[in-house]
Amino acid sequence: MSYSFDCPYLEDTNHGVIRCEFARITPPDKESRAEFLTECCGHPTKYKECVFYKIMDDYYKRKYSTEVAKW
Ligand code: SF4
Repeated sequence: MSYSFDCPYLEDTNHGVIRCEFARITPPDKESRAEFLTECCGHPTKYKECVFYKIMDDYYKRKYSTEVAKW
């Protein structure tokens, strides 16, 4: 099964692991891995509801607002 991987923080889904900039997730089986990818990381809109996504967005907002302020 292929996924569109809509979340910009997703890095790797090989070897049964879901790895993103915030977390390394190890689902217990293929079905739960597929469900998580379908309902979260690879969903066209639901990935924005992921708490890890929100935290990473906040992190980049802080990071770039600080860097812009230094200029
Ligand atoms: S949706 Fe959440 S868990 Fe999935 S890649 Fe994005 S931040 Fe990581």
